[in-house]
Amino acid sequence: MNREKYSRQILFPPIGADGQEKLLESKAVILGCGALGTAQANALVRAGVGTLRIVDRDFVEESNLQRQILYDEADARERMPKAIAAARKLKQINSDVHVEGVVEDVDNRNIEKLVAGFQVVLDATDNFEARYLLNDVSVKLALPWIYGAVVASYAMTMTILPGSTACLACVFPSPPEGTYDTCDTVGVISPAVSWAAAIQVTEALKILLGRQQELHGAMLAYDIWTNQFQEVRPRRDPQCRVCGAREFAYLNRTGPTHTSLCGRDSVQIHTAALRQLDLAELKTRLEQFGRVRANEFLLIFSVEAYELTIFSDGRAIVKGTHDPAVARSVYAKYVGA
Ligand SMILES: [Zn+2]
Repeated sequence: MNREKYSRQILFPPIGADGQEKLLESKAVILGCGALGTAQANALVRAGVGTLRIVDRDFVEESNLQRQILYDEADARERMPKAIAAARKLKQINSDVHVEGVVEDVDNRNIEKLVAGFQVVLDATDNFEARYLLNDVSVKLALPWIYGAVVASYAMTMTILPGSTACLACVFPSPPEGTYDTCDTVGVISPAVSWAAAIQVTEALKILLGRQQELHGAMLAYDIWTNQFQEVRPRRDPQCRVCGAREFAYLNRTGPTHTSLCGRDSVQIHTAALRQLDLAELKTRLEQFGRVRANEFLLIFSVEAYELTIFSDGRAIVKGTHDPAVARSVYAKYVGA
């Protein structure tokens, strides 16, 4: 172990030299690599958490740079997949850490494979569906996870230890109805993200160090602009459908979902079966219809009023519509059904 690199953390009594050794052998996974995910990954990699997997479906855009701390203008220009750009930057920050960037959309078909074998999952997703899915898999596998959500200047976090604390469904039995504020509608400021990420990372370090008795045990919420702080101590609900009855509705749902990316004027297309596209061949074929740009991970195709970002596994983000039917037909027309 490079003691100099971690010297200030070793001096901190709850970690010490033994704790640092333990962190270097630990494994954490982050779902989502936007604002929360980049802040979490930055802190965990600097702390020397030995193995870190980051999973993200998206690519870097200019509007991300205000708060997504691992990306720069070149990443946005080249439309780098976030998981790849983040992993590259993280390896430069700390080469001790095994960082794995996975460009995939987390869904009920792949989530178990993505989190199995890890000791803690940090939530950096941006939608309720993904969090309920994560809650299902966490309870099923007895895997701790740390909820985090930020919108505008308001941030909220909670740590879920299956079997001992309340789970997400104990506190919120179902997702909110109707429309709700998102970062795409009311914005977000970076210090609110930092606040949530700081607590999530601290909780993750306690879990990885085996210091569960020091977890905060609450649902914490803070509006960093208006200075309103809330702390509630949720109890387990014995009637909870997830951690009580062990009904994993999100995990066991059949069929793929067509997720709409809220507020971005985009629809994501999932293919029913995973497939491998030959991006070079597709690029040649599409160039007769419109403008095509590509990097080694994805291809951007502008046609009619749409812009398709197509990943090598067949997934695509169709910009220029909110209507899943329109997006699917554009996809079918140019990429194939
Ligand atoms: Zn529960």
